[in-house]
Amino acid sequence: MFLFVLACAAREPTLSTAPPMVQQPPPSIDLGTQWVHRSDAHQAVLATIYQNAGEALAVRAQALEPDTAWAIVSDVDETLVDNSEYQIQTLGQFSPETWAVWEEQGQAVAYAGAVALVAGVHDQGGRMAFVTNRSNHPATLALLQAQGLWAEGDVLCVRTESSDKSARRQSVLEGGALCGWPGEPVQVLGYWGDQMGDFPVVAQDDPSIQESWGETWFMLPNPMYGSWAE
Ligand SMILES: [Mg+2]
Repeated sequence: MFLFVLACAAREPTLSTAPPMVQQPPPSIDLGTQWVHRSDAHQAVLATIYQNAGEALAVRAQALEPDTAWAIVSDVDETLVDNSEYQIQTLGQFSPETWAVWEEQGQAVAYAGAVALVAGVHDQGGRMAFVTNRSNHPATLALLQAQGLWAEGDVLCVRTESSDKSARRQSVLEGGALCGWPGEPVQVLGYWGDQMGDFPVVAQDDPSIQESWGETWFMLPNPMYGSWAE
């Protein structure tokens, strides 16, 4: 043992001969993801928007002629379900491969308040058109069902060849075959999303945009990712 200790001591570099240590900062989670994942402020913002969306919806639903077919067009990710855990696990580095696994495993979780908001649609006779750029239909349907967001009669429209949602939204309105209820046009009483692409924005300088926010369009906060960050 003594000889072993001596041998080790002989190989131990002295401070003066040791290579300089390069201190790498530990991987960190960006502030936007931290805010979504753990802040009470984020929960409060969600509660505020969901409540306002629910109230606006109720007013419009009650003003409809009886037996009017109506729906809400809603995005899924960061609008109704939370994927901040994916952002944490990947350190904010999105890749199609890791996202495909995340989708398949259905690990997103409904935000507090989202289930009640969607239940309000169903309770008042409306249906949900979930328009998402997820690509795995069976896994997304299973997720919506598991999280209590799905009801019979709803539709789920996943990504087509294009991530542009315009054609799918139009199909819902017109009763087209691409998305919605074929042969049954509906009134859309609200659009919910977390990206500009979730809304029927024709032109940024269209004055009707400002009139739509908080009335029929409700934007949820997403400081984790988006076209604004690219
Ligand atoms: Mg989204």
